[in-house]
Amino acid sequence: MAEPIPFPVSRVFDVAIVGAGLCGLALARQLIARGLDVQVIEARERLGGRVYTEHCQATGQALDLGPTWFWLDTEPRITALLTELGLASQPQHDPGDALWLTDPNREPERRVEPGGVHVGAHRIEGGSARLVEALAAALPDGCVRIGVALQALRDRGAFIELLPTIGHPLRARQVVLALPPRLVHERLQFDPPLPAAVSEALAATPTWMAAQAKSLTTFAQPFWRTAGHSGNAFVRHAQAVLGEVFDASEGKAGKDHAGTGHAGALGGFVALNAAQRDNFKRGLPLLIDSQLAQLFGPEAQGGHPFLQDWAEEPWTCSATDRANPPEPPQADPVLRQPLWAGRVFLGGSETAAHGAGHMEGALEAADRIAHALARPQVSASSAPMRRTLHLTRPADSTRAEAIGTFAASVLALRGRAPERYRLHLTRLLSSQQSELLTQRALLAAADQVYSETLARLDQLLPALDAASAEVASGRHALTTTLLAPFEGWNKGLLDAALSFNGTSCALSNFPQEHQPDAETLRAITLDLAAAWREFALELNTRLLVAASSAAII
Ligand SMILES: Cc1cc2nc3c(=O)[nH]c(=O)nc-3n(C[C@H](O)[C@H](O)[C@H](O)COP(=O)(O)OP(=O)(O)OC[C@H]3O[C@@H](n4cnc5c(N)ncnc54)[C@H](O)[C@@H]3O)c2cc1C
Repeated sequence: MAEPIPFPVSRVFDVAIVGAGLCGLALARQLIARGLDVQVIEARERLGGRVYTEHCQATGQALDLGPTWFWLDTEPRITALLTELGLASQPQHDPGDALWLTDPNREPERRVEPGGVHVGAHRIEGGSARLVEALAAALPDGCVRIGVALQALRDRGAFIELLPTIGHPLRARQVVLALPPRLVHERLQFDPPLPAAVSEALAATPTWMAAQAKSLTTFAQPFWRTAGHSGNAFVRHAQAVLGEVFDASEGKAGKDHAGTGHAGALGGFVALNAAQRDNFKRGLPLLIDSQLAQLFGPEAQGGHPFLQDWAEEPWTCSATDRANPPEPPQADPVLRQPLWAGRVFLGGSETAAHGAGHMEGALEAADRIAHALARPQVSASSAPMRRTLHLTRPADSTRAEAIGTFAASVLALRGRAPERYRLHLTRLLSSQQSELLTQRALLAAADQVYSETLARLDQLLPALDAASAEVASGRHALTTTLLAPFEGWNKGLLDAALSFNGTSCALSNFPQEHQPDAETLRAITLDLAAAWREFALELNTRLLVAASSAAII
């Protein structure tokens, strides 16, 4: 490989971002807009990381071999970003019957799935890579270097030195590692070393979908729709090749490249694990073909196959991910703490409090770090009390309205939290989890509410006019007002969860969840309190940063 062009020795970037996935690119865009000197380095020869879209020459369809879905009602950041970038989305096609195959020697069973299978799921028109392209288009030339893999970080005092596997080092005042935590743990060396608790948390956080293989098969038409099938199928027996299948046709009816016909595509998640796939590598496309034919009939044979095995991607899948069964990530809050005295930050979707593992999580992590990077300027003494600079200040009534809007959002989120708790619980149960169910589902519901609240706060910050309110001992005057609608919420959520657990048949096999003992309740209460503290602190800090940035304008 040719030696990459060296980074200028005398140049110290404000921020170096490692990883040009969704998190790294979204963060770079925010920092560049703020006028910072940013360098992104990316190990692969392409942008997007796990976001990866191919195009089928035969049918003209965009095929998402990485992420496909996002959820309008629970994922505010990706929803807002798509709107801002002018990218359209469409609901996942679900109407029709689903197929269930539980015995390889029988015909699949047709089932009506009440409410659909992918409730609320949307897809980005033209493929998820359009989001990556739009983010990259906002970055100046040279801002991203591809084919540069980080190997080590050294603290040099005035700056941090980033040593790539090949080529010259890069220098930056602050560094963001926008990649899966397990890759940070397995591949990067730190001088000085990271605290043991951080290393352990990095190693313990699974990379979502890293060991998965995804298949897409395109057809001239979505023929299954005319037969009343949704395209959804579940294969639940030991010899399953695709565990789950879905309609991946592009467009409402799926148009071919001439725009006249109705091309179709079936997506699927391969049921074989990484080691099994290694053994069946050459035969896998044929096995997928016959699995589709068993489900949807002979018309499903002979489509154009596409396959992406993520376990073979060293810049996504760690050795630990490859060797272990998939697990949804739930990041230890220690991963959200700045390192090396506020100069190194851990990003990537898996570090997010809400949406961890999803595209939403990647954007949440980018938002969190963008706010945190603005913080060194803020302290109790430096945050100004009142400003008389040339600020066009919204009227008091505007702020009162914004506070009212914020409170109404919080109350709506509070109202939906018990239902979300039940959803998280169901997801944990259906992914065969059996430990700390109540605790994990409650934390996930709480983190979701906090994450959406912070997204709402970001939208309302200009109208809240943080700069003209007082700051005393590091506390912004609006903090108490904005936190007020949460009064009594933690306890209310816990009570609602316990009352649901007491009547839940699904939990009757888990006595500790059905009727948690005093020690479990104490642990849950402490966890909820810790999540609340992290959120309250973050809300206060965002107000302080907004106040201090406004003063600098
Ligand atoms: C098959 C599949 C299906 C999925 N489905 C969905 C879905 O439907 N909806 C959803 O929301 N999410 C889904 N996801 C998850 C989603 O893709 C991720 O959450 C999101 O893309 C993560 O973005 P990220 O920027 O945090 O990390 P990544 O995309 O992993 O980006 C990290 C980047 O860092 C680079 N890198 C790694 N190591 C180094 C190094 N040492 N030096 C320099 N660069 C490095 C990588 O090459 C990569 O570009 C799916 C993922 C897969 C694989």
